[in-house]
Amino acid sequence: MHTDLVAALDIGGTKIAGALVDGHGRILLRAQVATPAQEDGDTVMGAVAQVLGELTASPRWGEARAVGIGSAGPVDASAGTVSPVNVPGWRGYPLVERVRAATGGLPVSLIGDGVAITAAEHWQGAARGHDNALCMVVSTGVGGGLVLGGRLHPGPTGNAGHIGHISVDLDGDACPCGARGCVERIASGPNIARRAVERGWRPGPDGDASAAAVAAAAVAGDPVAAASFERAAQALAAGIAATATLVEIDIAVIGGGVAKAGEVLFAPLRRALTDYATLSFVQGLEVVPARMGTDAGLVGAAAAALTGVERETVAGV
Ligand SMILES: [Zn+2]
Repeated sequence: MHTDLVAALDIGGTKIAGALVDGHGRILLRAQVATPAQEDGDTVMGAVAQVLGELTASPRWGEARAVGIGSAGPVDASAGTVSPVNVPGWRGYPLVERVRAATGGLPVSLIGDGVAITAAEHWQGAARGHDNALCMVVSTGVGGGLVLGGRLHPGPTGNAGHIGHISVDLDGDACPCGARGCVERIASGPNIARRAVERGWRPGPDGDASAAAVAAAAVAGDPVAAASFERAAQALAAGIAATATLVEIDIAVIGGGVAKAGEVLFAPLRRALTDYATLSFVQGLEVVPARMGTDAGLVGAAAAALTGVERETVAGV
């Protein structure tokens, strides 16, 4: 019997995914709907309830001991609320309470999506066996999370490790977060593409002006496309080096759509790290691609739920 079965929710601006996950991180059942991101808060919650309804209808549901949620941020794990930037109907939305009510009072753990991906990479992916790691997602935005001393470090509100909004260019472009020169403002997919276009790169006949198209152009030898990835790599390297210097990580794991560019990103990133990670205790820092793929958010949310169950068991609650 799977006494360690948990439910997982991965809530983003485009989709809401749910799963029943066993103690080995295997997904036994999954459900998914599009996020009605521009609707009011209760409509978005209705979509979450629909996903949960598919899970609770399963004959295995009775074995589920807890629910883990990885949500687009910011989240406030201490208050049990979420305010995802791309879901304006949810501001300080009491997601934990609503999910608890929809699942018959199961314990609910909430973490940010970057932290969830970190939990997944540490449990089963590229950070496995590393006690001190930074895991990042570089796609439409740049997020991340930390493993410190062998444990996930979500921080009090569940957002620790949000490397995308560390400033690496003090007088740089204004970032939507309110600061300037953030890693995300330089290294996210849309910003890689924007910078390439500004410097004269033009998409091919298919009109694809995404970061993936810029990556393909870089592979084909386009210097402007390559330079835009090099600038992104430099920003990522500065952020990673700052993190390593601050808390002594020995590996940085990078996933997300932009990381699919492979060596177009990783080669200049490793070079740039030698410029910024200079002190003896950070020189051995490794940078590797993520391994978990699109299920990382669900698997990480399940890890958070299982950790929550362990904590309660230890505490005798
Ligand atoms: Zn920012």
